[in-house]
Amino acid sequence: TPRVGVLALQGDVREHVWALADAGASAVAVRRPEELADLDGIVLPGGESTTMSRLLGVVGLFEPLRDAIAGGLPAYGSCAGMILLASEVLDTRPDARHLDALDITVRRNAFGRQVQSFETDLPLAGLDDGPVRAVFIRAPWVEATGPDVEVLARVPDGPAAGRVVAVRQGRVLATSFHPEVTGDHRVHRLFVDMVSATV
Ligand code: GLN
Repeated sequence: TPRVGVLALQGDVREHVWALADAGASAVAVRRPEELADLDGIVLPGGESTTMSRLLGVVGLFEPLRDAIAGGLPAYGSCAGMILLASEVLDTRPDARHLDALDITVRRNAFGRQVQSFETDLPLAGLDDGPVRAVFIRAPWVEATGPDVEVLARVPDGPAAGRVVAVRQGRVLATSFHPEVTGDHRVHRLFVDMVSATV
């Protein structure tokens, strides 16, 4: 059974722990650098990215986590987690840091006031058995992707139609939305499969 950490400094940690367990992983909360040892993968939850970035520094996890992912530890970030994994972030605080694990430019709170939070059925590349129920909560979108980044999903319709909301680059996966708050854990299964493939 792959052992997958969930960064547990802030955000919707429990939902990811449940989703990972349902997807066949053994999920453990990570709050200290020592807890990165023996992980086969790590999930960065939704929450507030600038707060998480600050707390990562406070507990001494920022560099160890960045180095672990750069060294090949598979990672999945949802929403604020996507922002943390990005190489460039727009509309963030000047002191916010990010892990530079995905060659993407992300805009925070991109969907604006009218559609700050919404749900939609989203076809996702790699999940061929129907769309995922995607819950967006003050979500970012991806404005630019580097050559090695695979786009997995775009908003299907509405004012933000065509915006990129799920990406993968090698062992790093990110979604603007929150699959952990629905009962559908296929995105977590996709990640656990990525983790299993590298163990
Ligand atoms: N708006 C949050 C941020 O900028 C992300 C929201 C979320 O994770 N649901 O970090």
